[in-house]
Amino acid sequence: METFEYDIHKSFSDYVKYEKNITKFGWLIFLCLIFEDLFVRSYLVKQPFVIEIVVLQGILLFLSLSASIIKAQEFKKNSENRSKAADLIKLAEVVITVCFISTLHHSVFFYFVALLPITFISLTKGFEKTIPFIIFSWMLQIVSQYGVFRWLADSGISSIMDNGMLFVAMITLQYVIFTVFCYVWGGVYNEYLRSEEENNILIDRLGDKYVQLEQAKKEIQNQYDKIIESNNQLEEANKKLTSSLAEFYTLQQISQAITSIFDMNELLKFVNDVIIGVMGVYHSTIALCHGPQNKLKVQVSSIFDKKDLAIVSDYINCDTLKPSTEEGRSMIDNNVNPEDYPFTKGRNIQSMICVPLLAKGKTLGIVIIEHSIKDAFDDENMRLLEVISQQVSIAIENARLYQQMHDLATLDGLTGAYNRLYFNDRFQEEFKNAQSKGHDLSLLIFDIDHFKKFNDTYGHLFGDLVLKTLSAYIKKTLRKEDIFARYGGEEFVILMPYTSLEQAREKAEDLRIGISQLNITDRVVSASVTISVGVSTYPETAGRMQELISTADDALYEAKNAGRNRVRVAKKKGYKNDEV
Ligand code: GH3
Ligand code: MG
Ligand code: MG
Repeated sequence: METFEYDIHKSFSDYVKYEKNITKFGWLIFLCLIFEDLFVRSYLVKQPFVIEIVVLQGILLFLSLSASIIKAQEFKKNSENRSKAADLIKLAEVVITVCFISTLHHSVFFYFVALLPITFISLTKGFEKTIPFIIFSWMLQIVSQYGVFRWLADSGISSIMDNGMLFVAMITLQYVIFTVFCYVWGGVYNEYLRSEEENNILIDRLGDKYVQLEQAKKEIQNQYDKIIESNNQLEEANKKLTSSLAEFYTLQQISQAITSIFDMNELLKFVNDVIIGVMGVYHSTIALCHGPQNKLKVQVSSIFDKKDLAIVSDYINCDTLKPSTEEGRSMIDNNVNPEDYPFTKGRNIQSMICVPLLAKGKTLGIVIIEHSIKDAFDDENMRLLEVISQQVSIAIENARLYQQMHDLATLDGLTGAYNRLYFNDRFQEEFKNAQSKGHDLSLLIFDIDHFKKFNDTYGHLFGDLVLKTLSAYIKKTLRKEDIFARYGGEEFVILMPYTSLEQAREKAEDLRIGISQLNITDRVVSASVTISVGVSTYPETAGRMQELISTADDALYEAKNAGRNRVRVAKKKGYKNDEV
């Protein structure tokens, strides 16, 4: 805290300064008065020259000068003893001055000079302090004046005031006037003291207030600091809450997508978009493992530039990503060196995170997010991406399981063609469709010729190979909307929507020729088979579902009877089957 100490005499230092100056030149006043006295006595009043007077005046001048020098030295000192010594010097000064004034012929005009030092006392110490000085000076003045008068009278020199009572009265009157002056100056001093005291009280009060204010300020500062701290905490909590909410919303969106989007590619595309939206990344890419060697293949990516996408596709299986793909670890790099990550070469990528898609300890793929600025990601980003990836992994795994189950339920294990159960369902569906829309629906039924004998000749296993090879060939040649199924044993059906009888017959003929030209080989055997095909079409040769099968079957029977390795179409309603 600041102090409010105040030197009460400080303001009076000016008076001290004046006193100092007067002290400096006091001897000069003395000297002037000596000359004035000599002049007055010699020329004006024409007294005889009294050398003793001049000597006495000279001695007093010397004493005054000495007192001035001592006093000047005392002023230089800054000790507490100074005031005592100064008092003594002042007393000496008064004595010297009073005595000196008494030696003057016109002393009656100069008594006031003796009172000048005393006036300064009243100004610096108050009226009370001057009273002893005044009384002492007054008495000394009378005594010294009387002494000088007597001495001069003895020498036959009369003075201005030979009347003793008159000079006492003159001295007294002048002293009374000066006492009044001193009283006035003392009053000024007292007033000053009083206002100083008031000031001090005020300053003390101000000081107290200042201390209180300081304390209040400190308290306010403390409170402010606390508010700032809790505000920061609130902001931090708010940030966390906002990010948790965003995370929750994101995951909810993804879960919703998982339950509503059944197409895996569409789902991955949606997730990729969500990642870009939520994390504000430059690019996001999802790659899935394929084949026996689990090679990564870019599935979806936000990379628009075809050249850039090609770079990513080419280098996605680089060694640097192996911690993710082989060990299932997440990777973060905020200062990407393109030499380490070849898939970022020439693409201005500075930061990246790679998170594996894991299911039952197996890596299904990876998610890579990239940014064009350095230090773009933190652990929180990686954690969120891991949570998203977990969800996506579950969705991919579920989809794969679903696909497996679907395959098991709908596909024939040996040939990969649809099974009869699935065919029946689809047949019903397609027939209704054809009926309602009024379009053609053709059915091909074919059976391998002399397959029993073939089996007997080459073995059952080779027979299986024939079934597989033949199925693969047929699947390859059919349209997407055609449904190829194993109807039983070595008998197959092909349902062809939007296909007329003639078109179906042509297709059957192509297949028959193609199959007959297939060279099926294993390590030792090389053989080929032929097929017989029956064709029927709604509504041309059959009006109902069952009729479509039976008419096609009849046509197949006819093809067999006609010598095999041929196609027969069902006879048009009311007609016999025609040979191709
Ligand atoms: P056809 O020309 O009259 O059809 O004479 P075929 O010998 O083919 O007679 P059929 O169609 O009755 O013969 C069915 C044979 O197909 C019986 C069986 O040995 C064989 N076969 C049925 N399913 C399979 C199979 O899954 N694998 C093998 N290798 N052979 C099968
Ligand atoms: Mg057969
Ligand atoms: Mg058969």
